[in-house]
Amino acid sequence: MGREALLLRLADPEKHLDKRRLAILKIQTEILRSMVERLIDKGYCWILPVIFSKTTDPLWPDPDFSIEKRVEVDIYGERVVAMQSMIIHKRVLVSLGPGKIFILSPNIRIERRDRASTGRHLYEFTQLEIEAAYAKMEDIFRIFEELIVGAMKRVKDELAPELELLGRDLRIPSTPFKVYRRSELEERYGRSWPVEVARNIREPVWVRDIPREFYDYEDLKSGEWRNYDLILPEGFGEVISGAEREYEYEKILMKLEKDGIDKSRYRILLDLAKKGLLKPSAGGGLGVERFVAYVAGVSHVAEVQPFPRIPGIVPEL
Ligand code: AMP
Ligand code: MG
Repeated sequence: MGREALLLRLADPEKHLDKRRLAILKIQTEILRSMVERLIDKGYCWILPVIFSKTTDPLWPDPDFSIEKRVEVDIYGERVVAMQSMIIHKRVLVSLGPGKIFILSPNIRIERRDRASTGRHLYEFTQLEIEAAYAKMEDIFRIFEELIVGAMKRVKDELAPELELLGRDLRIPSTPFKVYRRSELEERYGRSWPVEVARNIREPVWVRDIPREFYDYEDLKSGEWRNYDLILPEGFGEVISGAEREYEYEKILMKLEKDGIDKSRYRILLDLAKKGLLKPSAGGGLGVERFVAYVAGVSHVAEVQPFPRIPGIVPEL
């Protein structure tokens, strides 16, 4: 089916909510059950999401930035923005306790219309966000690898008929996943490395050291960023972004100024850092729809949503 036809079908619930959709939703349910259970067993505290706040992720500077506008509204005489990610809230929470948290967090990102046909972009989606005080990059690699492989095994064991209906021959990746430096991939593939890597790998890979938002830890001496993305094979692409985080007041202030970001939005974060209360932590966010699309083997991430949120298309429901 061509892109245009697919997008039209996804906008019509009677055509879209068929047997395939049911199979995808069952797969999503099993994936979430598996991931949530594992996190709770590991002592993570389940936090419910915030939707509107005076502060959110600036998503800037990020090489993948493609936001048309931020959703801002006035409530009770105050200006608030819709959550683009809960990074700031996560940093505050793990510092003041509980130290290990996860959130199924709805994100609103009004992506440019041309993102409709990437197969990977929605304007409303959900991240499984995790954060742990004093964790290091490698700790977070291991946790996400366990979540991913655990969920895939569960789907393969429990939902063989659904995978067959979708024509999905699901192969479980081996762990630990390989780790590459962004610079070596950029040398090999050029600036479009995220897309090229996703086409050329057979198993998920971690990519580390990606210059981006102020809250990711940057070693100012070596110039290395202690952050990472997980790239999925078969063209599915980036599914996780995460990092060790900045916690020092002067450094955060300097980076905010360098990025030209309004400091007043990050007052609580800065206050905690100034008092030495902002704990080092690490974490990341997994795009739930993108991961489900990969497991189910569907070509557009909107196929995972019963009420698709495709950039540029606003449906009745
Ligand atoms: P980011 O903070 O931009 O790295 O987003 C974290 C994760 O959320 C990404 O790795 C994706 O899996 C997912 N994600 C980001 N933007 C979108 C989008 N527009 N539609 C669907 N998933 C997204
Ligand atoms: Mg990212």
